[in-house]
Amino acid sequence: MIAMNFRGPYRIRVDRNKPEPEILHPQDAIVRVTRSCICGSDLHLYHGLVPDTRIGSTFGHEFTGIVEEVGSEVTKLKVGDHVLVPFNIACGACPLCKQEMYGNCAESNSMATAVAGIFGYSHTAGGFDGGQAEYVRVPYADISPIKIPDGMDIEDAVLLTDVTPTGYQAAEMGGIQKGDTVVVYGAGPIGLMAARCAWLFGAGRVIVIDHLEYRLEFARKFSFAEAYNFKEMDDPVVFVKRTTDWWGADVVIDAVGCDASGSAFQTVLGKKLLLQAGSATALHWAVNSVKRGGILSIIGVYGPPWNLFSIGSAMNKGITIRTNQASVKRLLPRLIDHIMTGRLSPKDIITHRMPLEEVSEGYHMFSAKRDNIIKAVLIPPK
Ligand code: NAD
Ligand code: ZN
Repeated sequence: MIAMNFRGPYRIRVDRNKPEPEILHPQDAIVRVTRSCICGSDLHLYHGLVPDTRIGSTFGHEFTGIVEEVGSEVTKLKVGDHVLVPFNIACGACPLCKQEMYGNCAESNSMATAVAGIFGYSHTAGGFDGGQAEYVRVPYADISPIKIPDGMDIEDAVLLTDVTPTGYQAAEMGGIQKGDTVVVYGAGPIGLMAARCAWLFGAGRVIVIDHLEYRLEFARKFSFAEAYNFKEMDDPVVFVKRTTDWWGADVVIDAVGCDASGSAFQTVLGKKLLLQAGSATALHWAVNSVKRGGILSIIGVYGPPWNLFSIGSAMNKGITIRTNQASVKRLLPRLIDHIMTGRLSPKDIITHRMPLEEVSEGYHMFSAKRDNIIKAVLIPPK
């Protein structure tokens, strides 16, 4: 089959002869992919910021597909069902899944790592191949995948596998109270969705900060937010303070995560040493822009094992910090309702549709933020 193939940082090619996946466990299903996306999280893998990302692996944790085959214990899905597959791999039965923390499942990956199983997200997240391919093996097929609701556009469906629940959960973790001022760092798909969802929780003011003008423009239209360019500010923290009468924002959302362009180096005895792979600039700004007693919601992914963090400011201001992988399955029922009733239209963020064979160009373009890209969808050949 055709599949995206990781060859090392910044190098991706198309493998035309990857063996098709097989049922390995009675609860598995094999899904023929109909749509998959490239996510900002994939860029962390692409930039080499996530440990144990192995050569030859196939990324892709956002996909829809048609069930091709099911294991002997799968009862809810049938061959031919058109499904959307949440990015979390979850067993549905462990203590964390019982609390609906499907993004933290205790069974889908070794408890020796922090991360539960995720499709196409390195061996740190279980070593599962992902959906930027013609076929995927889906473990625990009865738990997270659901049939795409009748009448739902496939592009809305594929954005229910990650972007929509993730943006929504970013806003939810912010504990937004009626009238709150919410600041969102990052105007990528996740920040745009978080800003849009902040209104559903009663925000009184939503401010998005990025440096890409085309995305700020998008944030004004899609997220109905005020949007500002940090390159035009002396200091985004002072900007947020000034615009909130020096209080700081009630809620701040970090929808950036580690950024490959901002690694920190130090020269020791003439040798340049890597201090920190991927910057945490947005996180630093976020901690310092939230008001005393406010809430910081960190939805951005920090791939490297450790990051510089302003814990002193957080402690002295008495802020609450909430962070997690989105729990997609938990949020699906209410988000399906928001989409079917027209309150959310996730597919509006899709700017690029390309054949799966052009996946390498898709990564280059998304990494460089060329061609006004917000979200790219990959379409397999049949
Ligand atoms: P993206 O790359 O499209 O967007 C990131 C945006 O941040 C870009 O527009 C970039 O210009 C902007 N940015 C960079 N540095 C900044 C700074 N210092 N201040 C403000 N903006 C800055 O990515 P995306 O798809 O929107 O994903 C955003 C983050 O969310 C990533 O870290 C991704 O891994 C994470 N994510 C988390 C989950 C989860 O479940 N927790 C799920 C999906 C994605
Ligand atoms: Zn994603």
